[in-house]
Amino acid sequence: MFQKILIANRGEIAVRIIRACREMGIVSVAVYSEADRDALHTQLADEAVCIGKAPASDSYLNMERILSAAIATKAQAIHPGFGFLSENAHFAEMCESCKIAFIGPSAAAIGKTGNKSEARAAMENAKIPVVPGTEEAVREAEEGVKAADRIGYPVIVKASLGGGGKGMRIVRSRGEFDALFRLAQQESVHAFGDGAMYIEKYVERPRHVEVQILADKYGNIVWLGERDCSIQRRHQKMIEESPCAALDEALRRRMGEAAVRAAGAVGYENAGTVEFLLDRDKNFYFMEMNARIQVEHPVTEMVTGVDLVKEQIRIAAGERLRIRQEDVRIQGHSIECRINAEDPKRDFMPCPGRVENLHFPGGNGVRVDSALYDGYTVPPYYDSMLAKVAVLGEDRAEAIRKMRSALGEVIVDGITTNLDFQYGILGHPAFLKGDIDTHFIPDHFEKERP
Ligand code: ADP
Repeated sequence: MFQKILIANRGEIAVRIIRACREMGIVSVAVYSEADRDALHTQLADEAVCIGKAPASDSYLNMERILSAAIATKAQAIHPGFGFLSENAHFAEMCESCKIAFIGPSAAAIGKTGNKSEARAAMENAKIPVVPGTEEAVREAEEGVKAADRIGYPVIVKASLGGGGKGMRIVRSRGEFDALFRLAQQESVHAFGDGAMYIEKYVERPRHVEVQILADKYGNIVWLGERDCSIQRRHQKMIEESPCAALDEALRRRMGEAAVRAAGAVGYENAGTVEFLLDRDKNFYFMEMNARIQVEHPVTEMVTGVDLVKEQIRIAAGERLRIRQEDVRIQGHSIECRINAEDPKRDFMPCPGRVENLHFPGGNGVRVDSALYDGYTVPPYYDSMLAKVAVLGEDRAEAIRKMRSALGEVIVDGITTNLDFQYGILGHPAFLKGDIDTHFIPDHFEKERP
């Protein structure tokens, strides 16, 4: 087992990983930018190294500095968390050549999953249903419109290297294709430095259902239930739950087994997520594979009792999976709400600032993953997600009541958050009925605010 791990991230996920290290008797090394001198992760880790100025390109995305910090502190492994360098094949490769274990899949597997067109091709080979779409990356609008005509409208244009809902446009007719393709492509070039796009059938009113998997270095792969992440705003998740209320046991097993085949098809190891769209007729289609720990991993941990971050560390250290598929038991119902520093009344504009009078809920089955403390100043440079509140109830109805009770207790003064918005969703009759799909927020909250 590793004696020392460097965490190449910040915020609540860095804190989450530091805690896992401490519980495993592993020394943790934080890296931090000049804007994060007072951040919780900087203070909680056993050691901390400043790696540069506030902009992420000078710090959390600077591979050389992060590797230098790992070498200087004699860390044997790097946990990338999510975002930043977590799905960067080149970084994984650099770690390998520095003889530092990258806590995640191999560079080759990251390369395969990170490119949407390549991943789709691998899934088709493995007989996993994919949404009809282009086989190869499309770079010209003229070529794109031909593909869209063939697929049939509506289609969705996506950045091949996309993430976080960026570089994505729904096109409902041929007349609007050209303009929307160019917009999506511009966004992709801007965000990912590449204009390779792909086009697929737009599935109307789907649920986003994803399967958590764990794979060791010896070909053992298990799936740990699913998460319904349909509550999204602009293709970004806001609330996640496990299990998904729309699945019966047979469908759940089919999706789980497809996820295991997907992981096998790309030679995957470590923790990963296979994302599917589930249509109204309960057909599911592969969407993408995320080669990292996900923001929403706590709901899976709550219903399975498996600590996914610790498993990631054990797998990277070369241990065999300790869980067999028949040991995986889903118990109860878990929901997670993301607490962001943003103002729903002003188009969810980020609202950094100084936090005061902080109070978080607790109690049986309530979990808070957060990077906040009283008097902390949220810097303006990074993601606006500050905390996650997750609950475990006996069933979905109890989980919803527990989440309303928990959110009702939260006090975060000094900055504006999406707490009231989240509370409103949890009280909406359609949400209570489980009548949700990825259009839930535009349908119910676009005009009137909760
Ligand atoms: P990203 O990598 O940016 O997170 P994803 O491919 O995971 O993008 O898609 C994000 C969200 O966009 C999905 O959860 C879903 O709501 C929507 N989406 C993506 N592809 C389709 C599709 N073919 N049909 C309908 N909705 C889609």
